[in-house]
Amino acid sequence: MGKVTGFKEFDRKTEDYRPVELRVKDYGEVFTSTHNAEHLQEQGARCMDCGVPFCQSENGCPVDNLIPEWNDLIYHDKWQEALIRLHKTNNFPEFTGRVCPAPCEGSCVLGLNNPAVTIKNIEQAIVDKGFEEGWIQPYQVAYRTGKKVAIVGSGPAGLAAADELNKLGHNAVVFERTNRIGGLLMYGIPNMKLDKDVVNRRVNLLKSSGVEFIANVDVGRDISTKQLQKDFDAIIFTTGSTQGRDLSVDNRDAHGVHLAMEYLTKSTQSLLDTGSADNSDLSAKGKDVIVIGGGDTGTDCIGTALRQGAKSIVNFELMGKPPIERSDTNPWPLWPLIYRVDYGHAEVAQVFGADPRQYHLMTKSFIKDKNGKVMGLNTINVDFKEGQLIEIEGSEKTWDTQLVLLSMGFVSPEHYLSDDADITLDERGNYQANYGEYTTSQKGIFTAGDCRRGQSLVVWAINEGRGVAAQVNQYLA
Ligand SMILES: Cc1cc2nc3c(=O)[nH]c(=O)nc-3n(C[C@H](O)[C@H](O)[C@H](O)COP(=O)(O)OP(=O)(O)OC[C@H]3O[C@@H](n4cnc5c(N)ncnc54)[C@H](O)[C@@H]3O)c2cc1C
Ligand code: SF4
Repeated sequence: MGKVTGFKEFDRKTEDYRPVELRVKDYGEVFTSTHNAEHLQEQGARCMDCGVPFCQSENGCPVDNLIPEWNDLIYHDKWQEALIRLHKTNNFPEFTGRVCPAPCEGSCVLGLNNPAVTIKNIEQAIVDKGFEEGWIQPYQVAYRTGKKVAIVGSGPAGLAAADELNKLGHNAVVFERTNRIGGLLMYGIPNMKLDKDVVNRRVNLLKSSGVEFIANVDVGRDISTKQLQKDFDAIIFTTGSTQGRDLSVDNRDAHGVHLAMEYLTKSTQSLLDTGSADNSDLSAKGKDVIVIGGGDTGTDCIGTALRQGAKSIVNFELMGKPPIERSDTNPWPLWPLIYRVDYGHAEVAQVFGADPRQYHLMTKSFIKDKNGKVMGLNTINVDFKEGQLIEIEGSEKTWDTQLVLLSMGFVSPEHYLSDDADITLDERGNYQANYGEYTTSQKGIFTAGDCRRGQSLVVWAINEGRGVAAQVNQYLA
């Protein structure tokens, strides 16, 4: 335990983001680029090493990060040892340290009657220092088994599986259908939340350590599963949950109504190809933007549209505003279902003077102009009574908009690959495989990540990537 009285002496203080007025002018990360070691050591000293560290339990960190151990180590200024502990459980702490919603903090024992320990900030600082100091280098694999594993999809689940299998001496080959490696870490989560150089840095480390990457190959279309079965000893599908939930209302075909992922992907592509995200043909520049649906995806659309120069931004939520504090039905150590202000909300509030979120709103139809372009949409207010959605008569409203982004979650993976591989789907349309086993209905084909569990988190994808690698290793033994 860092400092016995640390939690009494020091208040929780998270690292500041860059000031809004500066960060909205660029696509750089919202985080400050330097960490204050003294401040973080003090924050680490707040960890009580409470004996039953719920932060590492089922409700806390999905990769079971050894949180009290590294808190203690950084308190004692042993950053390199802290990094070794961190890498024992987490292949990519530089991703989770930036984008994880930190369920660990929601279940921190200190959080029972005090603000939780600043776990996520400390994680990011440890790994950032590791890179700065040159402590993170490609590794040598001492022994090669001669077994080959094809991994389809290069998101965090595929990358974690590849890293683990490579360390075990197997030849891991990652196939990716887009032109860049990283899955949603690359095309999805925008640069201001996760700089693409941070993604490329890890991919390059994996390459130098022996993982092979093949981009621009769509498995199930460009190459068949049968071919992979001939060429490899095992196959893992980590293809993500890529089918966005659509909104079938009148005039959905209007130009300017897009699924969030079409917009976010094009914006990042444009940023990486030309240096400017608003060069994309879907740019929000000068437009009244409406984002339908919240969550991380909705916030990322808001943050991107703001940087592209949107004229106005509104975000519709079907549900009501969450409570400021936990409700009685949502006790510690569960994930707190409370009102949060994410980076995009704070930015819009400062730039336009009000939080973009509008609650209890349902979109009834889009309005097209004579050229088929969206020029508005119609809504009605809704409420929930005994679990039933009720439309409130007389609350109809028309909104001006020239760009609508649909961010209502994801349904499942697309199904051309599962058809090609002839694997069974579960009742939600995901590839069927039990958690912890990861075996599909076809021998030698495994699956992990969002395509198996449904849309989730980067940290869960890493957990599943590690888990599926262990199962494949046993299968190959
Ligand atoms: C906009 C957005 C923001 C998010 N923000 C956060 C966040 O802040 N924090 C967080 O923890 N989580 C966030 N998430 C969720 C997180 O990104 C996902 O849970 C995670 O990336 C899932 O990892 P995965 O490896 O299972 O799949 P993915 O990251 O989706 O990767 C799947 C990859 O497989 C490829 N692929 C699919 N089919 C084929 C095929 N047939 N052949 C070859 N390649 C194929 C895809 O192109 C893709 O690159 C966000 C998600 C979105 C959409
Ligand atoms: S990966 Fe997420 S849950 Fe785990 S310690 Fe880091 S921030 Fe917390």
